Amino acid sequence: TGALDLWPARVTVDLDAISANVRTLRERVGGTELMAVVKADAYGHGLVPSARAALAGGACALGVAQPTEALALRSAGVEAPLLTWLVAPGTDVTPLVDADVELAVSAPWLLDAVVAAARATGRTATVQLKADTGLGRNGALSLPVRDGDPRTDWVDLVGRAASLEAEGALRVRGLFTHFAYADAPEHPTVRAQQEAFADAVAVAERAGLRPEVRHMANSAATLTTPEAAWDMVRPGLAVYGLSPVPDIASAAELGLRPAMRVTARVAVAKRVPAGQGISYGHTYVAPRETTVADVPLGYADGIPRHASGAAPVQVHGRRCTIAGRVCMDQFVVDVGDLPVEAGDEVVLFGAGDDGEPTAQDWAEAAGTISYEIVTRFGPRVPRVHV
Ligand code: PLP
Repeated sequence: TGALDLWPARVTVDLDAISANVRTLRERVGGTELMAVVKADAYGHGLVPSARAALAGGACALGVAQPTEALALRSAGVEAPLLTWLVAPGTDVTPLVDADVELAVSAPWLLDAVVAAARATGRTATVQLKADTGLGRNGALSLPVRDGDPRTDWVDLVGRAASLEAEGALRVRGLFTHFAYADAPEHPTVRAQQEAFADAVAVAERAGLRPEVRHMANSAATLTTPEAAWDMVRPGLAVYGLSPVPDIASAAELGLRPAMRVTARVAVAKRVPAGQGISYGHTYVAPRETTVADVPLGYADGIPRHASGAAPVQVHGRRCTIAGRVCMDQFVVDVGDLPVEAGDEVVLFGAGDDGEPTAQDWAEAAGTISYEIVTRFGPRVPRVHV
């Protein structure tokens, strides 16, 4: 750790927690297969080690957004089935087909590109077709634009895919879709999207496709809507031990263990008089003589500026709150009369043991979701995997 000793802060990732969370999720869905979503650097936890930990916990496949993430996994020697679902028009898909990466297809142009790449490489290209059953984002719309219209983008896509598969030009291994309201299981769109997906699967099967995997459940649906599990679930956030439904159940209540712990060392600690304004704009004023500790992490590192004056940290085993504004490289904590000195450890968040704050606490303090808290740590903050 010689070089690491120079870093004033770090993100420590508990890989056993990732493996254990995957096991827990699989148990909850009765052993249904699980694709671990490792996009965005495994939600900030480090792509390759997190992917390996998820596979060790029983994930049968990995999902990423961008093709570069898929190729990074292959370059690191990860051989598991791998799906990438955000392929921009104009992308050269040859390296993906060559690396046996499955492409999620929302539109016919990508089928043509995949077929061309398969011919060029002499490989069998594998795709999964993505239906938009109501999220209104990517995916081929499986709902009619006008009532009673039998033609949909989905009908066109599966028709074209089925004839290419019949010619032996590619293989359609899966069909999938994504929920808009999985975190509100009672919302009417949750049922409507399940019905729309069942229809979309039936349309594809009538067109001659025989998909091996049909899937729709992200973390929230995996945990709250077991009937949406189909052949495989596709969680991201819960793999990292965070609750996707914090209003319904905490991570601990769900049997999940947060894998990420963020710590820093106090850069400066000093006594200040009552009435001293703290940080830019003096939005916090010391109510009495107190000790303030300067923590060397700022919004350039992923600390939300909206956490100013609100987010909790733990110092000397006690919870304290950010005092005043988060700056680019640092923030200040009022530690009262705790005997805090430069070099002492500050825990921003972790698994939540012994009163330690969690990423969910930070999300609430900053008015955001825990996804945003864990994914935003920047390149100045090293990841240490334990
Ligand atoms: N599937 C798709 C297509 C996604 O885009 C995502 C992430 O947004 C996931 C699954 C995983 O979602 P979550 O992290 O909520 O489990």
